[in-house]
Amino acid sequence: MQRRELLISSIIVHAARHHGDGEVVSRREDGRIVRTTYAAIERRARRLVGVLRALGVKPGDRVATLAMNSDRHLELYYAISGMGAACNTVNPRLSPDDIAYIAAHAEDGLFFVDPCFLPLIAAIAPNLSDFLRAVVVLAERGEMKPCALPPGVALHCYETLLAEASDEPEWPSFDENTASALCYTSGTTGRPKGVLYSHRSTLLHAMTLNFADTLGLRATDRVVAVVPMFHVNAWGLPYMAPMVGAALLMPGRHLDAVNLLGLMNAERANLSVGVPTVFLGLIDHLRRTGEKFETLKRILVGGAAFPRALIAEYGKFGVSVSHGWGMTESSPVVTLYAPKPATAQLDAEALLDLQAKQGRVLYGVDVRAENESGAEVPWDGKTQGNLVFRGHWVASAYFRQPGSQVGEEGWFPTGDVGVIDEQGFVQLTDRTKDLIKSGGEWISSIALENIAVGHPQVAEAAAVATPDEKWGERPLLIVVPRTGCAPEPEDVRKFFEGKTPNWSIPDRVIVAEELPHGATGKILKSKLRELYTGPQKP
Ligand code: AMP
Repeated sequence: MQRRELLISSIIVHAARHHGDGEVVSRREDGRIVRTTYAAIERRARRLVGVLRALGVKPGDRVATLAMNSDRHLELYYAISGMGAACNTVNPRLSPDDIAYIAAHAEDGLFFVDPCFLPLIAAIAPNLSDFLRAVVVLAERGEMKPCALPPGVALHCYETLLAEASDEPEWPSFDENTASALCYTSGTTGRPKGVLYSHRSTLLHAMTLNFADTLGLRATDRVVAVVPMFHVNAWGLPYMAPMVGAALLMPGRHLDAVNLLGLMNAERANLSVGVPTVFLGLIDHLRRTGEKFETLKRILVGGAAFPRALIAEYGKFGVSVSHGWGMTESSPVVTLYAPKPATAQLDAEALLDLQAKQGRVLYGVDVRAENESGAEVPWDGKTQGNLVFRGHWVASAYFRQPGSQVGEEGWFPTGDVGVIDEQGFVQLTDRTKDLIKSGGEWISSIALENIAVGHPQVAEAAAVATPDEKWGERPLLIVVPRTGCAPEPEDVRKFFEGKTPNWSIPDRVIVAEELPHGATGKILKSKLRELYTGPQKP
């Protein structure tokens, strides 16, 4: 057999040749919609390789992006990785201090930024002057604004650089194990940690997600990429979609329900991928306005638990939900819901229970639940264990962090706790540090939140442990009302009766206007504990 390297550039080359008119639609900062094709993206990305070289980028370097989802960000994904450098996607929602830490740790010499992030880069640039050479603004010449950068750091306009460059003849070839992208964890405890993906791991992840039994994208699909390209490569969408020619619809920074629904309906999207908070906002909007999804048929949700009640509600709007699990360290997808022959026997309620789990393991990776001595616990849907995973797209160590190497067998400790059922479906109970231990029994905060969101007046919920003299810890529930509702705490408590053992029903329910969310859209349990239960758990 021929041996060809599994390179990211091969995806966009294929897309340009076989799906040249495949669409990429982006909403710019000012709300304008712009359209381009995979053929144009490939041509411009190849040109961009020349721009990167002219700016002094060499294979093996890291180049940073601080940008929302757009055609230009897609060009950068392909140009930076395609020339043999690593695209360090920086999450703009992190604190400026963490962003400066990441840029210094990665030694990013160049930053490609959306215009809205110029103040952010100007604020941190003085701390990066040892290695930062230039900031390139993802804009036309006429959209350029002044930006105070330290001496020696140049400010460039992306479109001007591209217009002045000449076409590179072809994509270079190199070892498929070369680093392609660098993503940092969101660092809710301690500093963010870097995970370096390779061309090979990225391609294998994208191919597996394109299996019919996983996400199974097709050339006729039109996908709204809500999941941000600044974190975990937007779950592989920027690779999966061009690989099959599916249209990519990029909302930019317009992630509010009105704009998202507008984009979905106007662009005839049939699929969308994102975190629960966004889909929670969308459904709330539909309830209030009576508007509809005109063409949307499927969503892929992960990054935090997606409540069972919402899976049911999306079903009523004609949209099926694939719930998945993974993390920065696993590129990220490891499990995803898809039916099995045994699923056909289930009634509607039991099927919803199954869909609310985090799905089953994709080919190419594997998951175990382990007890404290590291032995695998049975697949009985009851015995809880620490979840570990390994596979082609799981990190073997953190970037530039000596001693972080996983053991010889490659099992990576996820910090998540869960159970696996007889059919291999994984169900997360909690992050280890978020588990609630009451009178020697574990209470799953995810299970409590799932029930709470089923209450007709509750939009969002979070359960945390609160110290208790008698029981060690007791669950406290904080709920955010649906628009126009005012749930009574005691009524929410009563709603739990018969749905969970009495001893696990939250002692107290607090109604709050909102819940704090972190840089990747997850509810910040540490912040809630600080606010409502005193000092944080170590
Ligand atoms: P990140 O590295 O930012 O992608 O976060 C990964 C973590 O998010 C995981 O370790 C889980 O704790 C959590 N997570 C991801 N997907 C899910 C899910 N479907 N349900 C519950 N938690 C999830």
